[in-house]
Amino acid sequence: MRQLFTIPFLCMLILTAIPLLAKSADIFSDTEALLPPAQSWSGRSESLLARPGDVWITPAERTGLSATPDYDETMAWLFKLVAAAPELKMVSIGNSLQGRDIQMVIATADQSFTPAAMRASGKPLLIAHAGIHSGEIDGKDAGLMLLRDMTVAGKRKELLGGANFLFIPILNVDGHERISAYNRINQRGPAEMGWRTNARNQNLNRDFTKLDTAGVRALVGVFKQWKPDLYLDLHVTDGADYQYDITFGGNGRKGWSPNIGAWIEDVYRPAISATLSDFGHEPGGLIFANNGMDMQDGILNWTGNPRFSSGYGDAVQLPAVLVENHSLKPYKRRVLGTYVLLAATLELLAREKDSLRQATDHDRQRRTDKIALGFERDKNAVPQKVDFKGISSERYPGEVSGTEVVRWTGKSLNQSLPQVLSETPTVMVERPSAYIVPAVWSDIIERIVMHGITVEQLTVPLTTKAEVYRLPEAKIAEPSAWTPNPFEGHIRIDPGQPVKQSIEMTFPAGSFRITTDQPLSDLIVLMLEPQSADSFLQWGFFLEIFTRTEYAEAYVLEPLAQKMLAADAELRTRFEQKLASDKAFADSQYQRLMWFYEQTPFYDQTYQLYPVARIPKDP
Ligand SMILES: [Zn+2]
Repeated sequence: MRQLFTIPFLCMLILTAIPLLAKSADIFSDTEALLPPAQSWSGRSESLLARPGDVWITPAERTGLSATPDYDETMAWLFKLVAAAPELKMVSIGNSLQGRDIQMVIATADQSFTPAAMRASGKPLLIAHAGIHSGEIDGKDAGLMLLRDMTVAGKRKELLGGANFLFIPILNVDGHERISAYNRINQRGPAEMGWRTNARNQNLNRDFTKLDTAGVRALVGVFKQWKPDLYLDLHVTDGADYQYDITFGGNGRKGWSPNIGAWIEDVYRPAISATLSDFGHEPGGLIFANNGMDMQDGILNWTGNPRFSSGYGDAVQLPAVLVENHSLKPYKRRVLGTYVLLAATLELLAREKDSLRQATDHDRQRRTDKIALGFERDKNAVPQKVDFKGISSERYPGEVSGTEVVRWTGKSLNQSLPQVLSETPTVMVERPSAYIVPAVWSDIIERIVMHGITVEQLTVPLTTKAEVYRLPEAKIAEPSAWTPNPFEGHIRIDPGQPVKQSIEMTFPAGSFRITTDQPLSDLIVLMLEPQSADSFLQWGFFLEIFTRTEYAEAYVLEPLAQKMLAADAELRTRFEQKLASDKAFADSQYQRLMWFYEQTPFYDQTYQLYPVARIPKDP
């Protein structure tokens, strides 16, 4: 613990208070000179732009899609549009920490402005949000143009004929107002933009299970209430250069919702890609460089945990598509690509709603006996080669970094690259019939209920066979590049290898019982199994169980240990073996006496005992 708060942390605090900028400020203001060369582009989607002087031109279009409006200007424009368009309504779905409304536009041709009316209409429902990371705001400006074209401008009215649309222009509203030209060093526009995290530095796209933030709580509330058929989360990448300007995908074919995963790959991606190509864009799948630097070691496909939007969608059988525009493409190209993707998605939903609902129903009914708690690379698998539209790169020795650095040349390079799949289960567990959570952990239950999970409270004591985990190896998790520690305001816990015990237990009245025989069954398991990366345990919600509290004095333990040795020959043998084999133990009065204490009924039996119990399928 202590080493986490040493010099780098102090430096950060000081830097926040007294900015230390290098002298030549002009170096920082010429962003274009810092970035790899941009390829020239023009495409049919440019015809989507409103002409100068158009009364409904959006604030971003007025700048030629080089800048983005702030919160107030965005909302003022939207309120004006909503007032003029009978198909639109705006509702606040929550309030941010700094008190801003998180607004959502409801778009429906037949004015089905309630969840019930929408369901009665039978039309498929798309939900999309921009600005979960507010510096990555392309989706907001694309959405404004599309809402106009589907309503007052009359250019794409047919889209609302076949589908309804919920659009949250800015999810992380406070981050959106931390405006600067210096927020995203790897990104080509807009001129100024918002910040990745919220006003308490929390990343909303790590918050889908634990629900700390107002933004994700509001969003999950919308999912629960409106039950959308398809969910789009609109981002911009960091990382490598390549030709694709818009990349998107689900959580893979082998995640928690394989039928939905297959629908996204086989139905959604080909159709949307064809339309994007038709409008002059270069669509691709989600891309991560396997070595985190360039494409020399191939590309990595990744199955996200439920802390992420797409992983959450996968875990709750909500078809979810993550859209990542390429940060090195100019803002105009990215916004237009997002417009085409949104419009094409509404068009496709009208056509393919039955196939999508069928896939979703299959996954909702599919309750496997065993469930994967996460996914990783299969180290033995030979990667398949895939075609890749790359940009050539070279490496050079970095004088400052003292190591190799990649330089992107801006020249197209079509390659065949190994693709590493991350779809092998980390751990499989038996799905229990229920979990029991003691009444004292009601803060966990509050969050579980927010997801729409049914929890009952025992009215009489329940005696049953149960399984509990002891966590003798648990420790504060080692920080890594992707998961520092502390992380997102939590101390992350590495559970080590849990020891499962089956015992007869009596749970008092008031205990919470969560059956897994309900929708969101997978999510229940993923939030409550200690070995799941997004369990409440790993997020540090159960830190209290790792502190031993009562004490035993040596003047009691020494004579007690002597009595125990005299009464138990086997214990004496084990003690002597331990003394002979473990010098640190032999040298420590504390360890020697503790060894005996742990084997007495005086020792705390709940220390390192995970308080959530499993009720097996056939108790
Ligand atoms: Zn992002």
